[in-house]
This record gives sequence, C-alpha cells and structure tokens, in this order.
Amino acid sequence: MNATLVSVEEYSQSQVRGERVKTESIAEICRRQGLNKFTAFVLAFLHVGAVAALFMFSWKSLAVSFLLYCISIGLGISMGYHRLHTHRSYKVPLWLEYVFATCGTLTLEGGPIFWVATHRMHHQLSDLPGDPHSPRDGAFWSHMGWILWGDSNHRNTRMLAKYAPDLAKHPYYVWLNNWHWVPITVLSAGILAWGGIAMFCWAICLRVVFGLHTTWAVNSATHMWGSRRFNTRDDSRNNWWIAIISFGEGWHNNHHAHPTSARHGLTWYEFDASWLLIKAMKAVGLAKGVKVVSVDSRLVEREAA
Ligand SMILES: [Zn+2]
Ligand SMILES: [Zn+2]
Repeated sequence: MNATLVSVEEYSQSQVRGERVKTESIAEICRRQGLNKFTAFVLAFLHVGAVAALFMFSWKSLAVSFLLYCISIGLGISMGYHRLHTHRSYKVPLWLEYVFATCGTLTLEGGPIFWVATHRMHHQLSDLPGDPHSPRDGAFWSHMGWILWGDSNHRNTRMLAKYAPDLAKHPYYVWLNNWHWVPITVLSAGILAWGGIAMFCWAICLRVVFGLHTTWAVNSATHMWGSRRFNTRDDSRNNWWIAIISFGEGWHNNHHAHPTSARHGLTWYEFDASWLLIKAMKAVGLAKGVKVVSVDSRLVEREAA
C-alpha cells in the first residue's frame, strides 16, 4: 500500500507547475493484486438480498432497519469510528467507546483499527499518491473499487496498528478488529430466527448495503460534487444530501479543513445529526473535551479567499 509511482514531492512540484498528475499508484497496485473474491461474493450476496427486500415490504421491517441504521452508521461510524476513534474530537468513558466501536462493526465496514488506519491515511494524503480512495483514480475506484481489489489489509492488525497505536493498546479493539464479523453474524442469526427471511433481507442486507453506499459516497461523491467553503489542498466538498443520510458526514470540506472538530455542519442550515447528539451528551456530562472549530464567518471568508 505504500509504494507509489509518483512521489509526494514530485506530485507537489507538478501541482505548482499547473500539471494534473493522476494518483493511480494504489489503484494500479491493487488491481494487479486482483479482485478480492470473498469480499466480492459477500457484497454481491448482500446486494441481491437488498433488491429482494424491496419485494417484501412491511412497516415493521422498515422501522427495525431504520433503527439499526441509526445505531450502526450514526453511533458506530459517524460518532464512533470517525469523530471519536479516528479524530478524537471528543472524549467519552471507555465502556462507551467500546459500545460505539461494536456498533461500527455492524456496518460490515471492518474493525476499528482497519477503519481508523485507512481513514488516517486518507487525511494524511487526501487526493495525493497514497490516498486509499481518491476519485482522481476514478469515481468507481473511490466508491467501492478500493474495497474490491487488492489486499485491503482488513485483518492485518499488526501493520494497521502503526496508524492507530491509541486503539491497538486496548486488547478489546485488537480482538474486535480480528473478529469484526462476529457481532453482525450473531445479529444476523438473531434477526433470521426472530423475523424470518423478509426481516433478514431488510435489517441486514438492505440496511448494510445502504450504509456501505452512504459511507462510500463520503469518499467518492463528497470529493467530487458540492461546494467548497475552505480552500483545502484536497478536492473535498460540502454536500447536503449526503450530510442528511450520513448523520452530518457530508460537510466534508468543513471536515477536511478542521479534522478535529466534533462539529462538521458549521452553520444553522448545515444539519449535522451527530453534532446534536454529541452536544446532548456533553450537556448530561457523558461527553467531555469536545473540540469545536470557530464558526466566525469572517474567518471562513478569509480561508476561502
Ligand atoms: Zn475526504
Ligand atoms: Zn475524517
């Protein structure tokens, strides 16, 4: 994953000269490694189940799926893996960190050490050679190609731990990273036994597929479509409809400009569901040390200039 065809220095110089260099390094290396057949099979299975769900609608299935979506993508990914575990933008008791991380595994987006390491690489080299999922390597690549091709090192905990030493020192995170599929497998068995095939197709297949595409859209669409408030060195954008379905993660240009801010939607009209919950947790003393960027509009104008 570290080898590059164009070094970061060469790339920076080419940018100064006004040339556009493709960051095809990681994409090319992964394509040479070939399709990850197991991942492809699981994703194909889930997509078939998601389509089947549409023919077995019930309000109960929809309600259960929505609840699990909020728990897995809202608490697990947005508030957990992303704002808490990766960026440490606020603090909660360790037991609650573990709860959020366990919710994160219910998305089938991998364990906490894999997710955090991949996302920290993304911030370190956003849209530069070495970014695991930049649209400069192709829109499809940045959306789901990067997870389908190559060895994405899901379970190479020792290698990934270098990027997430703060997590790797906790045995629970190491265990959860190696066995990230266990909680969702137990949940799937429970859902199947309780609600049958229709509930399984809704609460597992459709809910997981929708969650995956939402998270992937933050990597692909919000690096292509939307407005830019801050003149960051990457292509990140603010996208309102992705913000709605991702609990506020769509304010991605704000986030790249201020990665450690727990608040991503910076104005009243930038709806950020995760921020509202973090604020509520702070009010009851559950969240502490909450980092928030200044929303001073003059500062915003200056940075955009
Ligand atoms: Zn990004
Ligand atoms: Zn981030």
